[in-house]
Amino acid sequence: MNAALPYNELQRLAHLHALNILDSGREQSFDDIACLAMSLCRTPIAVVSLIDSDRQWFKSCVGLHATETSRDVSFCAHAILRPDDLLVVEDATQDPRFHDNPLVLGDEHIRFYAGAPLVSAEGHAFGTLCVIDRVPRRLDQLQLNSLQLLARQVMQLLQLREANQALQLSQQKLLTLYNQAPVAIILNHLDDGRFIEFNPEFVRLIGYSAEEILRLNTADITPSEYAEEDQHKLQRVAATGRYGPYEKHYIHKDGSLIPVLLNGVLIEAPDGEQQVWTFIQDISERKRAEQIKNDFVSAVSHELRTPLTSISGALGLLVSGKLGSLPEKMDSMLTIAHKNALRLSQLINDLLDMEKLIAGKMGFDLKRQPLVPIIEQSLESNKAYADSFDVSLSLHICADEQDIPLMVAIDAHRLQQVLANFISNAVKFSPPHGQVEVHLIQQLREIKIAVIDQGPGISDEFREHLFQKFTQADSSASRQRGGTGLGLAISKTFVERMNGRIGFDSVPGQGATFFAIFPLANRASDLSVTPNH
Ligand code: ADP
Repeated sequence: MNAALPYNELQRLAHLHALNILDSGREQSFDDIACLAMSLCRTPIAVVSLIDSDRQWFKSCVGLHATETSRDVSFCAHAILRPDDLLVVEDATQDPRFHDNPLVLGDEHIRFYAGAPLVSAEGHAFGTLCVIDRVPRRLDQLQLNSLQLLARQVMQLLQLREANQALQLSQQKLLTLYNQAPVAIILNHLDDGRFIEFNPEFVRLIGYSAEEILRLNTADITPSEYAEEDQHKLQRVAATGRYGPYEKHYIHKDGSLIPVLLNGVLIEAPDGEQQVWTFIQDISERKRAEQIKNDFVSAVSHELRTPLTSISGALGLLVSGKLGSLPEKMDSMLTIAHKNALRLSQLINDLLDMEKLIAGKMGFDLKRQPLVPIIEQSLESNKAYADSFDVSLSLHICADEQDIPLMVAIDAHRLQQVLANFISNAVKFSPPHGQVEVHLIQQLREIKIAVIDQGPGISDEFREHLFQKFTQADSSASRQRGGTGLGLAISKTFVERMNGRIGFDSVPGQGATFFAIFPLANRASDLSVTPNH
C-alpha cells in the first residue's frame, strides 16, 4: 500500500533538496551511526534513508546492496508520516500496509522493520534511520530508545553539514569580493601598523610583492608629513571604532606618490589584539581631473581678469559722469553693464582665491592688531552696497572694558573679505528697509563677530551644504541677487587659517546670523591659548 504524503510535503522536499545531500558520496560518520544501530539492535541491515519525491535514497546502507528504491515500496515513506514516533513492523507479512510489498514478497525477504524519523527543527521529516531483518522479531525498550537517540545524531550531522555548506558559501562570497574588489583592503596591527593581510588590489596599488609588504608597516609607505595626522587617525579609530574618509598619499615602490582615500574600522582579533581593516580607494584619476579643472579655471580666470578690469574701469568712468553726462537711456544701460562687469570681476577674484587656497599658494599675514577699526572699515566699504538695497548697517560692541581695544592676531585684508561676504549676503537677503547688525561679543577669551539679518534664514535642507563650494540654496533666487556660491567656502578657509571658527545660527523665516570667532590676543596669556578649529 502506497504511503500518503506528509501534510508539509512541498516545504519538506524543498528543505531536503536545499541540504544538497541527495546523491552525495559516502561519509564515514553516517556509516558509523548505521553500524552502531545495526549492532545495538542486532539486525543484519541498517539504513539512513531520505525520502525524495519519488524514491528513497540511502545516505548510508549497511548490509544491503542498494543505493535507492522507488518510494512506492518504501517502509520509511510510512515512517515519516508520524515524525514523533518510531515505526515498528515486527512481521511485515501480517501488516496490511506491507504484506504485498515487493520487498517482502521478493528476494529481499524483509520481515522486520524499525525506523526512527529524522526530523528538522521546522518539523520536516527527511527520512529515517532504520534497522531491517529478514525474519520477524521485536526490539526491547533499550534498543528502541537507542535507535531514536542515534536518529537524533544523524539529524545533528545533517544540520552540521548544512551549516558547514552555508559557511563555505559565504566564505567563498567574501573571498571573491576580497580578491576581485577594485578597492584595496588591508588589515594592520593597531599598535605598530604592521601588515597582517591585504588583497591583490593593494599589491597592485603599492607595487611591492606580497612578501615585501609583510615586512613593512604603514609608516614605511607614508610620506613623513602625514605622521602626525596618521597618529591622530589611529587615536580616533581606537576611541570610536572607525576613521575616515581620510585623504593622504602612499609611496609606491617606484617612489611615486599615490593619492588615496581611506576608511577604517577597528576589530578585535580572537586573542584580544586590536586590529584595523582599512579600505583604500585609489583617487589618482579624480585628482588628475581636479587638477585639470583647477588649471583650466585658473588659466581662464587669469586671461579674463585683465580685459575685464579695463572694461569695468571704462564703464565705471562713463557712469561716474566724469567724461560728461550721458543720455538717460544710455546711462541706465551702461549702469547695468557696469554692475555686471563688477559681478564678473567678483566671480573671477573668488575663483582665483579658491584656486590659490587649494594650491596652498595663499599667504596669511597674521598680525596682532585692534579689531574694531577693521570692522568699522568693513561697514564703511559695504555701506554703498547696503544703501542700494535700502538696508541699514550698524555696529554693536559688547566686551569687557579692560579688554578694549579688542586685539586679535589676524590678516586684516582676509578678515575684511570674510566680513564683506557676510555683510553682502545679509544685505542681499534682507527685506527692503531691513537692518543688518554687526555685533562684537566677547566670550571669555574669545571674540565673536556676528552679522545678523532679518532675511528668510537658512532652510534645514541647505544647512549642511552652506560652506561647500558653488552652493546656493535656491539658484534662481540667488541668481537674481547675484553671487557665486563660493563666498562662504572661501570665508571658512580664511577664518580657519587665522585660527578661528566659522558658523551660523538660523531659524528658517526668522533671519540668519553668520559669525566668526577668534581668540583674543590682548593679554600675554591669551597668546598661549591653543587655536580651536
Ligand atoms: P554667494 O556668492 O552665492 O552669496 P555664498 O557662499 O556667500 O555665495 O553663499 C551661498 C548661499 O548661502 C547663498 O547663495 C544663499 O543661498 C545662502 N546664504 C548665505 N548667506 C545667507 C543669508 N544671510 N541669508 C540667507 N541665505 C544665505
